[in-house]
Amino acid sequence: MTTELLDALNSPDSAIIRAAELLRSGEVVGFPTETVYGLGACIFNETAVRKIYEAKGRPQDNPLIAHIASIEDAKRIAVNIPDEFYRLADAFFPGALTVILRKRKQVPSIVSAGLDTIAVRMPAHEIALRIIAEAGEPLVAPSANRSGKPSPTSAQHVFDDLNGRIAAIVDGGKCRVGIESTIIDILGDIPVIVRPGSITGENIEQILGKKVIIHSAGESPVPIAPGMKYRHYAPQAIVKLKKSWEEISEEIDKNPNYKRMILTTEEAPAKLKDIVFSLSTETIYAEFRRADAESFQEILILCSDTVQTNTALMNRIAKAASGT
Ligand code: AMP
Ligand code: MG
Repeated sequence: MTTELLDALNSPDSAIIRAAELLRSGEVVGFPTETVYGLGACIFNETAVRKIYEAKGRPQDNPLIAHIASIEDAKRIAVNIPDEFYRLADAFFPGALTVILRKRKQVPSIVSAGLDTIAVRMPAHEIALRIIAEAGEPLVAPSANRSGKPSPTSAQHVFDDLNGRIAAIVDGGKCRVGIESTIIDILGDIPVIVRPGSITGENIEQILGKKVIIHSAGESPVPIAPGMKYRHYAPQAIVKLKKSWEEISEEIDKNPNYKRMILTTEEAPAKLKDIVFSLSTETIYAEFRRADAESFQEILILCSDTVQTNTALMNRIAKAASGT
C-alpha cells in the first residue's frame, strides 16, 4: 500500500477532507494530537478497527482510546455516564485526559478488547478535532507507532514505523505535550489514575473534590489497565537512572568508550557538554528514537528533584529503564 502524506501545516483544509474521506471508506490514518500522533479508524467500523491492530502489530487484548470532537459525542459511545465525567470534561476537555466510561453495546467489542468499558478523550488539537468531526463519528486511535517502539511525536516518526502499512499520514508538526494522556478510571468509589500524564492527580482532585489514587503495580484496588501487562518500550541502549553528576561520572569511568547520551534538565559540567541533551516530556520519545537509530550503547538519565516530582515523566523513564 502506498501511504499518502497529507500536509496539514500548509494545506489544512484539503488534508482534513482527504483524511476523513479515507477514514469513512474504512482506512486507517495517522494524525497529530497534542499528546502523540494517533492512528485513527472509525469506531463503528469493525473491519477498519481490525486494521489498526494489524498495522501496529498490537496484541488484540490491548484496548483502544476513543477520540471525540465534542463532549456530547461521549453519549454516542458510552452509557450511564457519571456526573464526574462532565465535571472532568468541563475542566480538561479538550485536553490530555482520558476517562474510562461504560461502553455502549453498539461499539464493536474489538475496540475495548472485550471489556464493557470504553476509554474516551477529546484531543486539544485543531486538526485532530476537525478530522474527527469530518469523519462523522468518534475515532479510535492508539499511538501511531509499531507496537514496541516509542510513541511518535512527529509525522516523520509515524512514517518511519508505518509507511506502506496505512493509507495516509497527516502532518501537523511536532506534538506539543509529547507523552500520552493521563488515563483515569472513575467507575469505582475511588478514582484511579491508571496511566500518569501531564494532567496530574492533584489537578483532578481539585475538580472532583476527593482523593485520587495513582495506580502502581501490586497496590491497586482495581484491576490493572489491560495495556499495562505488556512489556513496554525500552531502547536498545542500556538506560540507567542516576541521582547526581558524581554517579554519572562513576558510570562513565566504568566504560569510557561507550557511545552514550546523558539526558538532564540541569546545567551540565563543561567536559560533558557534547553528550548531554535536554530531558523533557516534549522530547523524551524523540531522544529514545534517535538513540536507537544511531546505535547508542548507554543512556544515562539524571533524575534531579525536578524530574522526580514529574510523575508522568518518571513513569516513562522508569519503564524505558526496566523494559516492563
Ligand atoms: P495507547 O496505545 O497509547 O492509545 O494506549 C491505550 C491504553 O489505554 C491501553 O493500553 C490501556 O492501558 C488503556 N485503556 C484503553 N481502554 C481502556 C479501558 N476500557 N479500560 C482500561 N484501560 C484502557
Ligand atoms: Mg501506545
